[in-house]
Amino acid sequence: MPLNNQRTISKPSYLKGVGLHTGQTVNLALLPGKLDSGIVFKRKDLKENNLIFANYNNVTPSILCTKIQNENSVSVSTIEHLMAAIYGEEIDNLLIEVDGPEIPIMDGSARDFVKSIRESGIKNLKGDRKYIKVLKKITVKQGDKFISIEPFDKLKIDFEIVYNNPIIKKQREIFQNSQSDLELFYNSRTFCLFEDVEKIKKKGLAKGGSLENAVVVKDDAILNKEGLRYKNEFVMHKILDCLGDLMLCGNRIRGSIVCSQGGHQLTYELIKKIFSNKENWALENQVLNKLQPNKKTFPARIAISA
Ligand SMILES: [Zn+2]
Repeated sequence: MPLNNQRTISKPSYLKGVGLHTGQTVNLALLPGKLDSGIVFKRKDLKENNLIFANYNNVTPSILCTKIQNENSVSVSTIEHLMAAIYGEEIDNLLIEVDGPEIPIMDGSARDFVKSIRESGIKNLKGDRKYIKVLKKITVKQGDKFISIEPFDKLKIDFEIVYNNPIIKKQREIFQNSQSDLELFYNSRTFCLFEDVEKIKKKGLAKGGSLENAVVVKDDAILNKEGLRYKNEFVMHKILDCLGDLMLCGNRIRGSIVCSQGGHQLTYELIKKIFSNKENWALENQVLNKLQPNKKTFPARIAISA
């Protein structure tokens, strides 16, 4: 297997948008990262303790999105679609500056993040990329939800959702790491059922939610004028979320995932279970002790000039 160089972007890129849950308009800057620095978020609105490393050890409980937090309780949420773009575009090191607590939702998909990364161009760094190789089958079950991963030489995600709704019904899609596949997943938007909108808003969430950034399904109708981008957009978005959450492993993971009815929480439980036992995984093309997954904050990746 050939060694791959680590990659970052070759020049900065800027985006602006509203946070889905906070409703706050934020500015986002994607900046080139140094070798081995990983994916790092920086809260530009805060003067100190403002770095948050994108690692599963920093995930904090959250409803309907993925949120990471540093040891000083400084957090950034709804990172998953940007992280999925980073996963798919094979970026290893990136500094992401944001002047608020939530990454903008843009159109509800990863499309604008991917466009930004592509416009910036790719810079190869002088160091090998590492991969996490899964060595054993790991399963997490929660009621009727289920996720498993088993050894495989690439990443494969076989995902199924079942909704009591005549449009969504049962959808299943398989992701296999190829460039042509990726576009469809990138463009798939977040979604919700109309009857859940009120419940979500009552919890103080989705303040920035609209038909501009989410597909809303009411019985057998799509409320968005433009309709769906693909018939299977719902399950494809779930795979996009899964890709973004897997990027929190710190390195790309190789394994075959099967998931039914999963989401951010279940993917996170799977990642925790993988790293809970050294016998479950190994780093390929790399000295094993460079990654220490059981520390609270991610070590050895502080090569960022703040
Ligand atoms: Zn999502």
